Amino acid sequence: MEITLQNLTKVFQSKKEDEVVAVDNLDIVIPSGKLYGLLGPSGCGKSTTLFMISGLLKPTEGKIYFGEEDVTPVPPEDRGIGLVFQNYALYPHMTVKQNIMFPLENLKIDKKEGLKKAQEIADLVGIGHLMDRKPAQLSGGQQQRCAIARALVKEPRVLLLDEPLSNLDARLRLQTREEIRRIQRETGITTVFVTHDQEEAMSISDEIVVLDEGVTQQVGQPQDVYDKPNNLFVAKFLGTPPINLFDGRIENGKIMIGDAYIGKSEAEDQEVTVGIRPEGFKIVERSSFQVEVEFVETIGRDTTLIINHPNVEVQGSFEDPEEEGDVTTVEDTEFEALNLEMGSGKSIQDQKTFRAIVDADYGVQPGDTVKFSVKPHKMHVFNKETGELV
Ligand code: ATP
Repeated sequence: MEITLQNLTKVFQSKKEDEVVAVDNLDIVIPSGKLYGLLGPSGCGKSTTLFMISGLLKPTEGKIYFGEEDVTPVPPEDRGIGLVFQNYALYPHMTVKQNIMFPLENLKIDKKEGLKKAQEIADLVGIGHLMDRKPAQLSGGQQQRCAIARALVKEPRVLLLDEPLSNLDARLRLQTREEIRRIQRETGITTVFVTHDQEEAMSISDEIVVLDEGVTQQVGQPQDVYDKPNNLFVAKFLGTPPINLFDGRIENGKIMIGDAYIGKSEAEDQEVTVGIRPEGFKIVERSSFQVEVEFVETIGRDTTLIINHPNVEVQGSFEDPEEEGDVTTVEDTEFEALNLEMGSGKSIQDQKTFRAIVDADYGVQPGDTVKFSVKPHKMHVFNKETGELV
């Protein structure tokens, strides 16, 4: 079942505040039988979009089609959707079997047939042996599978998942996301998956849409969006560790960071932000891009070099720490360690650093000077003012 969102807009009005445009003119086609990830930072309008698809929220403007059918005026219960939320919302006093069968109650389905169906779905999601347990006797992952089974039992046309893995610990998240992928493939049901976790969306989605402030930034297959970000926002949002950003300029067809020449460009002269993925650096014999390595971290075959550099524009985490009230990122912890080691009194915020992931065989040590060339397909150059690709 293909889902089309046409000029979909949602404006919330409240007496105390100005209007909030949660979703702004969204135009997307969610292909039939695919797993589609709605991705973006907190507050970008993901849940609002999902709730409009489900019918729980009415759009301010625009239309929603399931196949050819305009479902915009259709109430949620008649849309043929299965919904799964972050908190599993199972009925605590009912067994797994009763929970899964609950949506069938209003349908005039023969009890025996209903039981058979519930067992089939429970087997599909891997909890067929737990039918007589109550939710409190299940692990978080099992509870979430039960919620998915309940959403699937009515054979919905569309499955909508809103941050379904957020309440699970790291290991279960990984396992359950693979499970969701498998269930989606086996049932072939068009699925929309909402998450703020880019890695999660990238790993299981056939296609993703990246949203910011209710506006589509880019749509495509995860790898394509990662390899060819349309703008600075998308480049920053996708990738762990994040893309390195440098203040730079284009001068006579050359991309420059300070005095270092790092590549060619056909764009006209301008101030730019140069994004280089950590895996985009190559150690070479001759280059004007010469740096001193501060900190080295080796995991398996890869060495991450952390380098102080005056032209790094934004370091590390995508979220603005001031705004999010969260200043502890992985980078921070490393730098606390680094600061202690160097006996430096500098605060973390003063550090202008970037990271390069290179082959461990180079045996780079802290204090070494290395020369880099930059792999052109791992470098993205954006206009400094607009953030658009140049
Ligand atoms: P999160 O990942 O934090 O759940 P989200 O991307 O799902 O975020 P939405 O819940 O869709 O974001 O919210 C989008 C914007 O709309 C936010 O700015 C939010 O504050 C606002 N918003 C959501 N619901 C309402 C409401 N009922 N009234 C007013 N504003 C709302």
